[in-house]
Amino acid sequence: MRVENVAKAKCPLSVDIIQQAFTFIYIFYIIIQMKECIFCGIAAGKIQSQIIYQDDDIVAFKDLNPQAPAHILIIPIKHIESLASSSEEDCVLLGKLQLAAAKIAKELGLKDFRLVANNGKGAGQSVFHLHYHLMGGRRFMWPAG
Ligand code: AMP
Repeated sequence: MRVENVAKAKCPLSVDIIQQAFTFIYIFYIIIQMKECIFCGIAAGKIQSQIIYQDDDIVAFKDLNPQAPAHILIIPIKHIESLASSSEEDCVLLGKLQLAAAKIAKELGLKDFRLVANNGKGAGQSVFHLHYHLMGGRRFMWPAG
């Protein structure tokens, strides 16, 4: 009898049950990950980030994968999927996001900067919680790639 068969023969149920339990836990973990919005997690302080600005409505933090010497993400605490899914009731909040961007740029000493909101997969949006990329510290080309 092979070694693994001996092990199975000794406790035939437990190996399968443990395997199934791990598979179940893994699938459950993936589902939770998919449901949980990463930027909501950052805004709630559940996910670590380098926060550089915060008020009652907005959080701004350093991008994990910076595309410029200064690359800050500015998000509303309220979960809005994208700019396209914002509504009339968000009009003050949208204004606050842009004012925060200008304020942060000034604090970082950025005279010239680029403010970008990717809207939808086709435009490069990968996190579906509205955010503005504030980038500066290098020359930017136009049109954007
Ligand atoms: P977008 O592709 O326009 O949706 O931008 C999403 C941005 O979020 C990318 O530039 C990522 O590098 C950035 N990002 C993703 N996860 C994190 C994180 N945990 N902390 C900081 N930035 C992140």
